[in-house]
Amino acid sequence: MLDKIKEIREAMEQELREAASGDQLRELKVKYLGKKGSISELSKGMGKLQPEERPKAGQLLNELRLKLEESLSAKQQELAEKALELKMAQEKLDVTLPGSPVKLGSRHPLTVVTDEMKEIFLGMGYTIEEGPQVELDYYNFERLNLPADHPARDMQDSFYIDAKRLLRSQTSPVQARTMDRLCPQPIKIISPGAVYRRDDDATHSPMFHQMEGLVVDEGISLADLKGTLLNFVRQMFGEEREIRLRPSFFPFTEPSVEVDISCMLCGGKGCRTCKDTGWIEILGAGMVHPHVLEMSGYDPEKFTGFAFGMGVERIAMLKYGIDDLRVMFENDVRFLQRF
Ligand SMILES: [Zn+2]
Repeated sequence: MLDKIKEIREAMEQELREAASGDQLRELKVKYLGKKGSISELSKGMGKLQPEERPKAGQLLNELRLKLEESLSAKQQELAEKALELKMAQEKLDVTLPGSPVKLGSRHPLTVVTDEMKEIFLGMGYTIEEGPQVELDYYNFERLNLPADHPARDMQDSFYIDAKRLLRSQTSPVQARTMDRLCPQPIKIISPGAVYRRDDDATHSPMFHQMEGLVVDEGISLADLKGTLLNFVRQMFGEEREIRLRPSFFPFTEPSVEVDISCMLCGGKGCRTCKDTGWIEILGAGMVHPHVLEMSGYDPEKFTGFAFGMGVERIAMLKYGIDDLRVMFENDVRFLQRF
């Protein structure tokens, strides 16, 4: 029995020294301390010993068990420390290595231009109004004096959701909503946002952006409109720009005008961009139609107003010399990085 204990003890110490992983330690624990382990087997053999031998053998067995438990936990700690050291060595940071470059995005040209346009009008005392993109037919057409047989109301030209609702085809419905809300107070607003039409070619996109402007007060005249637009155009395209107003027709303004600016490329001499005219059309405007004022409750005898609407894409294309509208929405990083 005593020889057997000595033998097991030596074998065990040898195996412990050689153990190199947590798994091997667990195996050793089972091998010696488990229910069917060597030490347990020896304990079972105690009964066969002579009574005078039992205390000595029992003591040795206990010592062996304690020794093994101590050694196992010491070895376990040693292995854990080694693992940590290895990990530290592997994950060591070299702070002198060059960093990986951080790619910064840039603002989309439409965002840049929209923000610039907003800033110019905010500087003239305008406030910003927004409206729903899913709009009632009533606000999109009827309240803007568009008769039922107007071509813009054709299902072929607008994205209808049901008989009464559509994706707004212009930002002008915000005018009617604002007049309803503020009447009879004076109004001075711009309304930028996305609009939708069934078009898709080099100069049209099914979704594009407009900025609408509306001023309603006592004594507003066409001269105020012209002064406002001239101020805007010069801040946007340069101090030397001129504008000219040509008679036009829109259902919600009377009189209506198309506004041209002197070509920023040739300075008015004539070039490809301005089709040799020296002028480029940039927006539509006019004095708010008395009936449109009336529908919101403004007395057209007392109040007058002007409205203008322009395409943000068109302004951006002119400002940056872009000739295909579609590149604005293709999200080609090579194009977007230019801004
Ligand atoms: Zn030109």
